[in-house]
Amino acid sequence: MKTTIVGFPRIGKNRELKTLLDKYFVQAIDAETLYSGARKLEIDQLKFLAERLDIIPCNDFSLYDGMLDMIYLLGAIPPRFVKLQPSQGGAASLPAKLSFYFAMARGKEVAGESTYPLEMKKWFTTNYHYLVPELSRDISWKLEPSFLKAHVEAAQSLGHPFKVNLIGPLTFVGLSKIQEGSLEEYLEPLVRQYEALMDLLREWNVPWVQIEEPILATDLGNKEREQFRFLYDRILSKKGPLKVLLQTYFGDIRDSWKPVCEAAFDAIGLDFVGGPYNEELIQRYGFPENTILVAGCIDGRNIWKADLIGLKRLIKKLAAAVSQEIWLSSSCSLLHVPYTVKGESALPENLKTSLAFAYEKLEELELLKQVLEGDPGTAWEDGTEEKSPEEQKENGMALRKSDAGNPQKEETFPGNKFRPVPRQERYELQQKRLGLPLFPTTTIGSFPQDGELRRMRRQYREGVISPQAYEAYLRDRIRQVINLQEDLGLDVLVHGEYERNDMVEYFAEHLEGFYTTEQGWVQSYGSRVTKPPIIYGDIKRNHPITVPWISYAQSLTKKPVKAILTGPITIINWSFVREDLPLEVVASQLADAIREEIDDLQEKGIPIIQVDEAALREKLPLRRSEWEGYLKVAVGAFQAATASVRPDVQLHTHMCYSEFGSMVDAINAFDVDVITIEAARSQFELLPSFQDYARDHQIGPGIYDIHSPLVPSIEELQQRIHRMLQYIPAPMLWINPDCGLKTRNIEETKAALAHMVGATKKLRAEYDKRM
Ligand code: GLN
Ligand code: ZN
Repeated sequence: MKTTIVGFPRIGKNRELKTLLDKYFVQAIDAETLYSGARKLEIDQLKFLAERLDIIPCNDFSLYDGMLDMIYLLGAIPPRFVKLQPSQGGAASLPAKLSFYFAMARGKEVAGESTYPLEMKKWFTTNYHYLVPELSRDISWKLEPSFLKAHVEAAQSLGHPFKVNLIGPLTFVGLSKIQEGSLEEYLEPLVRQYEALMDLLREWNVPWVQIEEPILATDLGNKEREQFRFLYDRILSKKGPLKVLLQTYFGDIRDSWKPVCEAAFDAIGLDFVGGPYNEELIQRYGFPENTILVAGCIDGRNIWKADLIGLKRLIKKLAAAVSQEIWLSSSCSLLHVPYTVKGESALPENLKTSLAFAYEKLEELELLKQVLEGDPGTAWEDGTEEKSPEEQKENGMALRKSDAGNPQKEETFPGNKFRPVPRQERYELQQKRLGLPLFPTTTIGSFPQDGELRRMRRQYREGVISPQAYEAYLRDRIRQVINLQEDLGLDVLVHGEYERNDMVEYFAEHLEGFYTTEQGWVQSYGSRVTKPPIIYGDIKRNHPITVPWISYAQSLTKKPVKAILTGPITIINWSFVREDLPLEVVASQLADAIREEIDDLQEKGIPIIQVDEAALREKLPLRRSEWEGYLKVAVGAFQAATASVRPDVQLHTHMCYSEFGSMVDAINAFDVDVITIEAARSQFELLPSFQDYARDHQIGPGIYDIHSPLVPSIEELQQRIHRMLQYIPAPMLWINPDCGLKTRNIEETKAALAHMVGATKKLRAEYDKRM
């Protein structure tokens, strides 16, 4: 029995990689400093892992994103970036290579000409974003393995068994944006690249390659099964002495069980946490002989200590069903959990002992192996020797005990919570109250958070400045941002969200039932990290949360101020959730808390309320058969949270994506008055899909991409509005950025918003002439 993990976080225990990237992006350090700093971090981590695991992962360490690394490695360079590509290829200087690599992630402006970045999407059901490959016929498919080689050398320098992680071809092509022709025509060039990679890895004397195919956990049909066979017949024919582990995660692989078992993999990695049905697949259909089972049993997605007794039983059952050895592994990469519980000094001891972040999960793997290899029956079960894991778990459970009543009660969300007045009538009442012009302009809520703000927040937390001084400072910022928005000529103003470090964490800090961590950072994309709170107990709202800030903002202006709240499903999806209660009970507790906040805001005369469901789509199950159950909870929670919004109060929601297809009914059931969505990063391709929705809903498809520092011109924005108007009736169209402005700097923000308002005014003038 051996221990391994699918992958490890790379942002750094103290966010070292983030710090390096942030500095590099503002040119405070050069490419060499960035690269050598990242390299040191990588090697330190590899050493750390080598002391704890039998087989360590390699090439899971990325400077920005693993999918981007694959695009770069395979030479799948979209034509618009080719002009930025260093002509010497792998022999180019490090600064030239990195500048090109990051141009694909962040876009680039050269001599006034801007190249927009690759799109970003959520990695399956996680909050991690990958960069989306774009496939077209012009791609030259030139392998560029210099970065990969460096990762391999780093691992080899330790003299410890390792595996090289690669994202597999089916997942790569499946997540790509096919810009010309059909997916099928890219299989041949792609498989050639993987064949060449196999040659290289053999040449470099790499012992194991881990090819990751998380796409196998989604719904697949005959076509995909054939594609799988085609790809892996070719790839495996190149393997020679190189051993191949097919790694799957995020669910079971029921749709590809047969072709997976028939192929000549040396090992198959299965997720028994996200895909418990994998166990049944093995029991029912058997597991291929001569193949190692890599049992993903330590949860890579949540932070509760494993039930090691249950896992011991599981592994024993599996061992009886397979003929080769078993490797104990994580269910997926540990990228999705923070580094270590040890850094948390403020968490209560009995909660701490029930948590396992990445480091602690390594310990769990080791412990599980010891127990499984040790004298059977001595440990744990007779309760004499090592009772600790169970005891610790019980400790945590005690803390999480619920007084939520009967969690099995039939209907958590009875269907009568709809807003009673029909949308058209509400529209008239709201228009009378708000008096908005055609194409109302607004923002999504947050304004740039600068060093000064972060310093004040830190000083307040450390007790260096008093709560009164901090409050006065925030009020001052609110006043400034209200003035700024009035100067810019925006129609619906916001208070800027300065009091929030994070849209979920802030609410978690003010609600009962949550703990927030000090160091629990998780990479969200590139240099961005989030710190998900932990839902450990029953959620309650003991006091108003946003009301003082928002009513202060409204007192400063005659224009309507929009209150911004985070919705129940987003809070859940961006938190680590307790597992001892059904999800709908947790969601219903949260919905009640948010509704209380809304009631107070209305009472104070706030005319517009936005409930962000930025993360609604994120946990939409990978398998269609499970959608209904999830969406029922999501819709129920949103309706319960907003049921008391008065007809003359305009209800908005914001979502960070625009793939409506799968969720049209759910979004309809939200019954909001206005929705703002992401659209710019995908070049408005998804506009047609909300044409129907826009017939009777107001909608603001984000007009520019806030993830990129580029400032679009007035003319460009005008063109974009014209495109929107092909799909959205003029009275229904709102003009706003893609998402919150928190991460941008104030200059970019002012310039972009000024252009946005400028373009809108020109358009209004055109319409006035026509009338
Ligand atoms: N209201 C939030 C903000 O403006 C929304 C952020 C998000 O959608 N991720 O920052
Ligand atoms: Zn957003």
